[in-house]
Amino acid sequence: MKNNINLVKGTHDIYGAEMEKFEFIIESFYSVCKKFNFQSIQTPIIEQQELFSRAVGEQTDIVSKEMYSFLDKGEINICLRPEATSGLARFAASNYQSGLMKLVTHGPMFRRERPQKGRYRQFHQINIETIGEKSPYIDFELILLAGLLFNELGVSKNKYKLLLNSLGSKEDQLSYSKLLKKYLSDFKNQLSETSISRLDKNPLRILDSKDPEDNEILKNAPKISEHLSTESKNYFEQVKKLLNSNEIEFIEEPKLVRGLDYYSHTAFEFQTIEDKRQNAILAGGRYDKLISMISSRDIPGIGWAAGLERLMDLITIEDEKSKSKNKILFAVQDETYLINNRILKQIYNFKYNHEVRVNKNIKKLFSYADKNNFSFIILIGEEEINSNKIILKDLKNKSQQTFEISKFELKNEIR
Ligand code: ATP
Ligand code: MG
Repeated sequence: MKNNINLVKGTHDIYGAEMEKFEFIIESFYSVCKKFNFQSIQTPIIEQQELFSRAVGEQTDIVSKEMYSFLDKGEINICLRPEATSGLARFAASNYQSGLMKLVTHGPMFRRERPQKGRYRQFHQINIETIGEKSPYIDFELILLAGLLFNELGVSKNKYKLLLNSLGSKEDQLSYSKLLKKYLSDFKNQLSETSISRLDKNPLRILDSKDPEDNEILKNAPKISEHLSTESKNYFEQVKKLLNSNEIEFIEEPKLVRGLDYYSHTAFEFQTIEDKRQNAILAGGRYDKLISMISSRDIPGIGWAAGLERLMDLITIEDEKSKSKNKILFAVQDETYLINNRILKQIYNFKYNHEVRVNKNIKKLFSYADKNNFSFIILIGEEEINSNKIILKDLKNKSQQTFEISKFELKNEIR
């Protein structure tokens, strides 16, 4: 006997009710964003590894530990994309002309993490980016869109919270890093190993630490919001004013730095308030220097990404029964009855939601219709063929009618 071939660790199939949620989210996402003039794009899943080591940063967990990379035939280092923004930034670096490039995409991302509930090695994201200009309104618009999407998906405001921070300009970050490093150096012996290793290379990353002792130490650390330049502060104030004036509630979180190196100014994260280990649903921020890190052009941008699996876990979808309205089971007792069948042709032409079943046993056909939430059954059995008749049974109202095959007009009976 042959053994089954299992899924690769950290991957999953999406099927049935889960797939309905998946599609519902994607459709809602594109429909909301298209009203704001975003255009969809698909970029490759494989990219040059250098794209991510330059854009996301060598010291991030994503690049240092989690990337699936390989040397392709001894020629070039290729990897499976761990996130989408870098690929879109690569696209913008070669294709941006003027004004705003407003892009939306979705697809699988790959990170070699420790799999847990809500944390996979292949997961899916929806992504949105506005590239080309820097203005508080653009930042606000992206946050607004996230809220509109949650609303569209039926996720009520009391199910999530929005955390907001400003990371200032790259210059602000440099001077704040020095302050933070100075403060943390006094606690060097108490910090976690990872944080110690980051102290010299990238102290801002320490704010992201999940270690409880690190967090205790960080409580009294200088806050980035208190060390922004006037310009950065004003910018952030404008974003907050726009949010406030549109009744979008947020919580300022000075420790929110996000897991990637490319962010500056506005950074945000939508989290579930449910007690879940993986509470980050949607996250993003401004990345004004990203494109200059991967090309000779300097173009500002901002974007966010949401985890589809985590969103799927948050939503409920109307039950199967109400959606299968007018679903027809076209049931025959013999395969030959399907040939040149005028009713089947009507079904094709009018695009009815239907399924065809052939079975000698009529009872089995009826029980199949019951189990699979069909609303109607059109039955052609041996008796009917002999008398040139069909039976139409309304399974919801439990009524039944017989018609002449040659005269039957489906659109008169089922609307
Ligand atoms: P986390 O803190 O949960 O590791 P992250 O900061 O690494 O998240 P981002 O890189 O900002 O996540 O990705 C955006 C979103 O993608 C996250 O908010 C989350 O919903 C989703 N996501 C990230 N990693 C995974 C994963 N391994 N499995 C499922 N969803 C994920
Ligand atoms: Mg992560």
